[in-house]
Amino acid sequence: MRLYNTKSRKIEEFKPRVEGKVSMYTCGPTVYHFAHIGNLRSYICEDVLVKSLRYAGYDVKRVMNITDVGHLTSDADTGEDKMLKGAKREHKTVLEIADFYTKAFFKDFTDLGNAMPDVVEPATHCIPEFIHMIEVLLEKGYAYKAGENVYFDTSKLENYYVFSNGSVEEDDLMVGVRDDVDEDTNKRNKSDFVLWFTKSKFDDQELKWESPWGYGYPGWHIECSCISIKHLGEYMDIHCGGVDNIFPHHTNEVAQSESYLGHPWCNYWFHVHHLIDRNGKMSKSAGDFVTVSTLKEKGYDPLVYRFFCLQSHYRKPLEFSYDVLDNQVKAFDKLIKRIAALSDDGDVDSAVFDEFRKRFEDAVTDDCNTSMALTVVYDALKAETNDATKKALIASFDEVLSLDLLKKAEESKKDASSGEDEETVRFVTEKIEERKAAKKAKDFAKADAIRQELLDKGIVIEDTREGVKWHRA
Ligand SMILES: [Zn+2]
Repeated sequence: MRLYNTKSRKIEEFKPRVEGKVSMYTCGPTVYHFAHIGNLRSYICEDVLVKSLRYAGYDVKRVMNITDVGHLTSDADTGEDKMLKGAKREHKTVLEIADFYTKAFFKDFTDLGNAMPDVVEPATHCIPEFIHMIEVLLEKGYAYKAGENVYFDTSKLENYYVFSNGSVEEDDLMVGVRDDVDEDTNKRNKSDFVLWFTKSKFDDQELKWESPWGYGYPGWHIECSCISIKHLGEYMDIHCGGVDNIFPHHTNEVAQSESYLGHPWCNYWFHVHHLIDRNGKMSKSAGDFVTVSTLKEKGYDPLVYRFFCLQSHYRKPLEFSYDVLDNQVKAFDKLIKRIAALSDDGDVDSAVFDEFRKRFEDAVTDDCNTSMALTVVYDALKAETNDATKKALIASFDEVLSLDLLKKAEESKKDASSGEDEETVRFVTEKIEERKAAKKAKDFAKADAIRQELLDKGIVIEDTREGVKWHRA
C-alpha cells in the first residue's frame, strides 16, 4: 500500500507496526444535526481505504468516536456547545438529540455502502478515561488550571504545529488564534486549548460530570486521543479525518497523546479533501446543505453519490452539482445494464481473474486510486473472457467499491421498468415520492389522485414490503 501521509507530506510505502495488522482511527460525527454529503465524502473515502487494506490482505481494526459533548461551534474553544445548540433548536434534551442524530448518521453511513467500524464509542461513555488522561497531563506539567478550566500548555512542546507547511493553509492555522474570536484571557499562550471546561459561560450546559476540578465537561480534542488509545493501545497506524480536522483538532490530538504517552503515537495521517459546490465548501454553517435524505427525496440512489465520489481522488476537492449527479446516474445505469447482460456461462478462468484482480488491487493500494480502479472494472467487462469470469471479477471488485453491482444488475433484470427511458423513470419516482409524502401527511385523497394520475398514463403502482414497485398496465 502506498499512502500519502500528511505528517511527511509525501506518498510513502505503508508499513504497519505489526505485520499484517492495521490499527485505524476515524474522527466520528458531532451528532447535533444531519451529516451533509460533504462530511460523508470523507467517510466514503475512509471506507475505501479500510476495504482496500483488507483487499490487500491486512487485518484492520477500525475505531470511531461519536462526539456527543464538548465540540463548540468553532473548532477552537469558543462559541456554544454544538450539542446544546442542536437541543435548543429542536426543543429537546441533549441526549435526545444525540440519540436521534447518531441513528440518522449511521443510516446515511450504511446507505452509502460504508461498513460499520469495528468499534463505535460515544464520548459520554468515557468520562473517567478523559479525567485520568488530564490528571496525567497535569502531573507531567503539560497542563494547567486557570480560570477554573484545565488547559493544555502548548509552549511545553518543541514542535506543536506538527502538520504545518503541509496542506494546512496559513489561514487555517491562525483560525484558533484570530483576534476576532472571543479571547480567552485565562490562557497562557494563544494556541493553548481546553482539556476540561469547568467554569464556563455555558451555565445551561446540560451534560456535566464531577471531576477533580469541579463539575464540568471534556474538551473536544481529548475525546479522540483517549478513545483511540483506549481501543487501539499506545500506538496507532492510521488516523483519518477531513482536511479541516488537521488544525486545530488533529494537531491538538498529537500534542495530548504524545505528551501523555511519552513517545510518538500515530505513524500515518490520512486526510480527505472538501466537497465543494458553486458557492465553495459545503458546510452546515452556510445553511444550505445537501443530506442523503435530500438526495433520496429527489429520487437519487445514495450509491450513485458513492459512485460519483469514487471517480475522483480523495486528496482533491470534488465539485458537486445536480447536473453532474445526473450524468453519474446515467453512467451508473449503463454500468449496471452491462453487468445485467452477463450470462452465467463458462467456468471462471483463474488466470484472467488473477490478472484483473491484481490490476484492481494495484489501483486501490496506490494511494486509493479509485478512478483507476473503476477503469479496471470497465476493462474487465471488455476483456476477452467468458461471462462467469467477468461476474466473479465484479463480485471481487465490489468488496472495495461496495456499489451492490451484482445485486442491482439482478434487480434491473426483474424490474419491468428497466426498459423505460430516464425521463419516465424520474417522473414516476417523483410521483411515488409525492404520494409517499401525501400518505405520511394523511392526505389520502391526494395520494389516490397521484395513483390515478399515473394509471391514466398507463402506469400501475403497487405497495410491497420492499417499497413501492411500478410497471406498465
Ligand atoms: Zn477526532
